[in-house]
Amino acid sequence: MAVPKRKTSPSKRNMRRSHDALKANPYQECANCGELKLPHNLCQSCGHYNGRAVVSDES
Ligand SMILES: [Zn+2]
Repeated sequence: MAVPKRKTSPSKRNMRRSHDALKANPYQECANCGELKLPHNLCQSCGHYNGRAVVSDES
């Protein structure tokens, strides 16, 4: 089995982990109803996408 020759130094370990942090979700307001929604996603509140009703709320 391949085994690392040297222990990873704290500096190298922390450099590797510098990209691991999670960013907050970039929510945007829906142009139709003002509800918060994810970009490039259908609005869960009113069913609009890109100024158009994709899903009707009559049910
Ligand atoms: Zn909406």
